[in-house]
Amino acid sequence: NNSNESSVIQPTAMLGMLGGGQLGRFFVIAAHEMGYKVTVLDPDKNSPAGMIADVHLCAAYDDASALKTMAETCVAISTEFENVPAETLATLAKSTIVHPSAHAVAIAQHRIKEKTFFKEAGLPIGPFVAVTNASDLPEDGDMYPAVLKVARFGYDGKGQARVANQAEAKVAFQNFKQEVCVLEKMLTLDLEVSVVLARDVHGNIAAFPTAENSHLNGILDVSIAPARCSEVIKANAQELAKKLAARLNYVGVLGVEFFVVGNQLLINEIAPRPHNSGHYTLDACITNQFEQQVRVITGQALGNPNLHSNAVMVNILGDSWLYSGKQKEPAWDKAYAHGNLKMHLYGKHEPRKSRKMGHFTVIGEDAQAVLNTAKVARSELH
Ligand code: ADP
Ligand code: MG
Repeated sequence: NNSNESSVIQPTAMLGMLGGGQLGRFFVIAAHEMGYKVTVLDPDKNSPAGMIADVHLCAAYDDASALKTMAETCVAISTEFENVPAETLATLAKSTIVHPSAHAVAIAQHRIKEKTFFKEAGLPIGPFVAVTNASDLPEDGDMYPAVLKVARFGYDGKGQARVANQAEAKVAFQNFKQEVCVLEKMLTLDLEVSVVLARDVHGNIAAFPTAENSHLNGILDVSIAPARCSEVIKANAQELAKKLAARLNYVGVLGVEFFVVGNQLLINEIAPRPHNSGHYTLDACITNQFEQQVRVITGQALGNPNLHSNAVMVNILGDSWLYSGKQKEPAWDKAYAHGNLKMHLYGKHEPRKSRKMGHFTVIGEDAQAVLNTAKVARSELH
């Protein structure tokens, strides 16, 4: 064995996952298929990943004894959740392999740090202002209408308020209890696209095809791969995502969200983990984003990210159980009647409004037929 080979972690080693949501669950599934074992840390005893992990440490993300157990029993650790305290990653990294780094996660979990990084890296972003005091809110003019976003812990459109002017921005800032925020100019979006990529310790990058995303109430609704925009925009998104990952010295799986405004591409935000808009890779790519995450942290070579089918992914929210005010199981049999539809349910017990309960992906050779089937299947669920 040369030193390169011996630094590779082979099955049946125990890997660690911080966070037990659906992203962690897909990681566990990929790791199991590849011959690895997984310990999941998540305070929820019913967490989707914890339920199927080899070991579930049911404790807080800063629980010293749980972190000690993880450091002692896991040979490599990753995260599915950007709000794991960066200190947790830093602590674990002292005694075991951890990807992504605490540094990268600290940037991704704070909107001001994130935007400052984009700016310093020369990456294109929309106009924004950091808001730590009400007096930072700009006067009426160019910046409005705008979106006020809390700098930390926002997701799925939570912690965001659309504001028409300074007076509304002040009210929204009060409502957010004067937490640190960013104010972003509201852009007129022609399209939203994303790139999920994996970058290994040597700096090799495997990027998945650029996907097109549509949101409903701030939550991802549908992803289409490949995106239906110009080849120039798609290629540009790939280039920017790779540049960003290299500049961050990122190791792991990274999701990069973009706004398309005319022929301009602007970076919206990054996620230091597999991304919902990369779920289509489970069924439509040679290697999926979770297998890639296992490959990166174990030091195995990156897999081929190429698409083998056109794909349309549709999220299934708790709302699908709660239509017309009644709780009723969605019509699964109608979805399963489509032979090109791949169903993924996350095993969450309680279908709350806006909660991501599962998704399905329709795959096939004909992009238009795939889209039509996905639309039909989506409407039939309710
Ligand atoms: P989250 O962390 O909730 O994903 P995002 O910043 O990505 O937060 O915002 C969610 C969605 O809201 C975006 O995908 C986009 O559709 C819309 N949005 C956010 N910021 C802007 C903006 N500045 N201009 C226009 N639309 C926006
Ligand atoms: Mg987003």
